[in-house]
Amino acid sequence: MPEKIVEKKNSHYSVLIIGAGINGCGTFRDLCLQGVDCLLIDRVDVCSGASAAPSRLIHGGIKYLETNEFRLVRESAMERNRLLNNAPHYVKALEVVFPVNSWFAGLKDGFLGYLGFRARIKERGALLVEIGLRIYDFYNRKVKALPDHRFFGRGKLREQFPAVTKNAVAAGLYYEGRVTHAERLGLELVLDGLAAQPKSALRTYTEVQGQPQQGAFTLKDIISGETTKVTADVVINASGAWIDKVNDSLGVASSYMGGSRGAHVIVKHEGLLKATQGRMMYFGCKDGRFNLLYPFFGNVLVGSTDLAQKDPDLAHCSAEEVDYLLSVVSEIFPDIKLSRDDVILTYSGVRPLPRASGKDIGDVSRDHSIGRDKLPGTEVPVLSLIGGKWTTFRAFSEQSCHAVLLMLGKTRIVSTVELPIGGGRNYPRDENSRNAMVSKIGTRGNELLDRYGTKALEVQQFAAMTQDRPVSSLPSYSTGEIAYICTHENVRHLADLLLRRTAITMEGLLTAQVIQETAIVAANILGWDKTRLATEIEHATTELARRSVKSVRSDLVQN
Ligand SMILES: Cc1cc2nc3c(=O)[nH]c(=O)nc-3n(C[C@H](O)[C@H](O)[C@H](O)COP(=O)(O)OP(=O)(O)OC[C@H]3O[C@@H](n4cnc5c(N)ncnc54)[C@H](O)[C@@H]3O)c2cc1C
Repeated sequence: MPEKIVEKKNSHYSVLIIGAGINGCGTFRDLCLQGVDCLLIDRVDVCSGASAAPSRLIHGGIKYLETNEFRLVRESAMERNRLLNNAPHYVKALEVVFPVNSWFAGLKDGFLGYLGFRARIKERGALLVEIGLRIYDFYNRKVKALPDHRFFGRGKLREQFPAVTKNAVAAGLYYEGRVTHAERLGLELVLDGLAAQPKSALRTYTEVQGQPQQGAFTLKDIISGETTKVTADVVINASGAWIDKVNDSLGVASSYMGGSRGAHVIVKHEGLLKATQGRMMYFGCKDGRFNLLYPFFGNVLVGSTDLAQKDPDLAHCSAEEVDYLLSVVSEIFPDIKLSRDDVILTYSGVRPLPRASGKDIGDVSRDHSIGRDKLPGTEVPVLSLIGGKWTTFRAFSEQSCHAVLLMLGKTRIVSTVELPIGGGRNYPRDENSRNAMVSKIGTRGNELLDRYGTKALEVQQFAAMTQDRPVSSLPSYSTGEIAYICTHENVRHLADLLLRRTAITMEGLLTAQVIQETAIVAANILGWDKTRLATEIEHATTELARRSVKSVRSDLVQN
């Protein structure tokens, strides 16, 4: 039977956190480290909202220089570098190529914008990009983790990237981070929090039912139907784009949010993969927007759109967005023409941006802040975590944790600045120590180290105690490995396993057979009977088809 990370159901917690996206998970970990008991709930799963839909960059946000958000760029660059250090198993350096089509474009608008005039930069020339990259290098220095930028002239650019548009006269080359397993990193924060404060708890597929009565919340487990009552000294609303909806359900009137929907596609295309030369292309497009593409598990991730989205529940990646993302690829690589047939997966999410009427959605600040309200008829504070980026979650969590500690009359006892996360602890930093770790893990050492960091040892030891064998439709994964995840990582639906605990879907490895086989392993661990097994398979298949997972789509057609 699975090791329960769900608690014996307490009726009071110091803090109730609603929403287990990256900001809820980060705040949960930080509070637990300070000895504060918290209940973290999500009506879906850990990192299943916007936190599962980013471009997967851990970045300094170079484009925020154009909106004079120097504080945000400085914080983002520092947090990026800290994540490279604290989560080296999932956050890796990524070289970025920023091609430009002119030398001097944008200088005047950039200067006017810096002086505070409303001037929108339509095109960025080499000189402007060089200035931006120098500022970027400066912010990279405080917590140094990446090399400084370089510049390629036309000749060198064409030599290294023969497929790139002939319009490009030069390119800036600089470094960012990328996160390979974003959803797993979020879960690891929760697991670290639970290890630090055993009185805390996580409940997924759980929501608040009705308005709280005299500060008492009725929580409903959406899977089992069970309801429980809890009270809390402080409530944190970390529900991202749903913040105003959740506040409304608590009886708190707020209008903090103004979300923007963003979609990505993952395409399987050898020519495009080769054209990237393992780098990320960050390029301005005809419509004045920036787009990006880079290699992702042997395929190419292309993103993203930016469209106003009133109701986050209705967000999806539309056919028009798919066509737009496929078409922008030809702006950087003119000889590459993609079709819908090349798409193996789409995903979409709503950026939890602060409300900013009258502004273009692309100009709304990506900074974070805390909204402060009280639960009606009580003195219980409700803190809403507005905005923020994946990259800056630690700093935002630190800020939220600080606000709560003040309210509880406590002080910080543990800093998260240099604290490793999950399988990033004792992660090997050079080739020799990596080889030593790989041979300690044993067969599949490299693969498991990439998937679980230093937790790979625990995964392998657990698997060895089961009748471990390769999943026949997916031999790069083993049944013991799947069993470990189902036992230790709060899998409640099959989709949790296929979409968030593993990168199976992201890697483009999903087929109907994989769904069947992994479902059977999960059923054995989680005690699902035949009816539940069939429901889980149907539910996961529908969920995956909704995300246009190509293999599932075509398998379904064949069936
Ligand atoms: C297209 C796109 C690209 C992005 N790219 C990047 C990037 O490359 N780098 C970067 O740093 N950032 C990026 N971001 C931003 C980043 O992903 C988000 O800012 C961040 O994930 C927000 O996290 P969150 O925890 O606030 O919200 P979410 O992750 O949305 O979490 C909110 C949670 O609340 C839950 N919830 C909602 N209603 C309820 C309820 N009633 N009861 C219980 N739970 C509820 C939801 O299920 C959800 O899990 C991107 C975002 C998008 C959409």
